[in-house]
Amino acid sequence: MSPGYDIVVVGGGAVGAAFAALAVRQARVPASRVIVIERERPPAWERAEAYDLRVVALSRASSRILAAAGAWETIVASRTSPYERMRIWHESMSPHGDDALVFDAAELGEPNLGHIVESRLIQSALLAALEAGGVEVMIGTVAALELSSQVATVEVGGRRIAARLVVGADGARSRVRELAGLGARSRDYRQHAIVANVEVARPHERTAWQRFLGHGTLAFLPLANGQCSIVWSVGNERAEALRTLSVPEFERELTAALDGALGEVRLASGRVSIPLAATSAEHYVLERCALIGDAAHTVHPLAGQGVNLGFLDAASLADVLAEAQGEHEDYGALRLLRRYERRRRPQNELMSAAMGGFNDLLAMGRGPVARVAQRGLALVNRMGPVKRLLAARAMGVSGDLPAAARRV
Ligand SMILES: Cc1cc2nc3c(=O)[nH]c(=O)nc-3n(C[C@H](O)[C@H](O)[C@H](O)COP(=O)(O)OP(=O)(O)OC[C@H]3O[C@@H](n4cnc5c(N)ncnc54)[C@H](O)[C@@H]3O)c2cc1C
Repeated sequence: MSPGYDIVVVGGGAVGAAFAALAVRQARVPASRVIVIERERPPAWERAEAYDLRVVALSRASSRILAAAGAWETIVASRTSPYERMRIWHESMSPHGDDALVFDAAELGEPNLGHIVESRLIQSALLAALEAGGVEVMIGTVAALELSSQVATVEVGGRRIAARLVVGADGARSRVRELAGLGARSRDYRQHAIVANVEVARPHERTAWQRFLGHGTLAFLPLANGQCSIVWSVGNERAEALRTLSVPEFERELTAALDGALGEVRLASGRVSIPLAATSAEHYVLERCALIGDAAHTVHPLAGQGVNLGFLDAASLADVLAEAQGEHEDYGALRLLRRYERRRRPQNELMSAAMGGFNDLLAMGRGPVARVAQRGLALVNRMGPVKRLLAARAMGVSGDLPAAARRV
């Protein structure tokens, strides 16, 4: 079968949709040669509705990538919560003491450290930008994949779609990864993240608050309506107990777990519980196939890096496609796709290892090594240049960045 498309993207979540948009807008692949297959269209985002439970903290690199993909203007015009500070401390410290690690946008000469945005809004804005730009978004579930030296073919609801390159952006349980025979290593953290939106008695001061608890991690992300989105990662049994506590008991536990830093906390939504694992595909690429985003890797959410890494994958793969055009190379050529894997795998694995280390030592650790790591927070706080370096890395304004993530 000769390819009807250049690129078929399986999964129109944030990462897959961003990649498809960058392929067209940055790598100049004609819109009519790109198709996105997404299992279900997200319900339309409405400003009048309360905040969704699923929000993500976006780095500066991610907002630049979303701008290059044609979606950032819509997102900003809809609803974002910029945050200006991060305050990180261990349960052995006081939240307001000198030992807490504090990142402040003003000290970095930046207006904010990043933005908290609802996942559904990001996905909706990207899909709308894609369709406005002439890319077909097909609703369906990919059930089969064939890879040959000439073409990649996917099967969706009885239709066979052939392309030069198939991009698996279908999330942590990627069907493309499985069908392509790309194995994955996984670490089950034996933890769940409890996610909810809450009212706080004291102003959140546009600060992201994070406390390492010795039995997990608790983050309060500031929302523009004064509420916070919480992510409370704890062992499976404790998570189940927390999820089923009565509302007043849960609120009491939550207030205490943040050491009262934001006063009394009240639930403003239901609670959901999400299992946590770190996954890494053994290979990100094969001839005619590449994985991006959660399909390639998942990391512990304690530093909110998952989708930020995925957007960098999307932008790096788009860079490689742009290079292919200059070199008159086939988009699905393994030689080319390996370039993408070489650029992204080491950075993703480094971040995953760092998150695993933070979890083991700061969030869960109790021994002498853990105590050294905990004191390290205070040390970093006093080391201006190291602190600035870490903040610049987390914001995605330093390091080896793909074109779409660089400062305009
Ligand atoms: C509690 C928690 C908090 C987090 N907080 C942050 C944060 O603050 N910052 C951050 O950067 N990251 C955060 N993350 C991580 C982030 O949510 C993920 O990294 C991100 O959603 C991955 O996006 P994706 O597009 O790769 O995958 P997904 O969002 O999983 O999208 C995959 C898409 O593929 C579709 N699909 C699946 N299978 C098929 C198929 N067979 N055919 C067609 N379509 C298919 C799905 O419908 C879906 O739309 C957090 C994660 C958790 C669990």
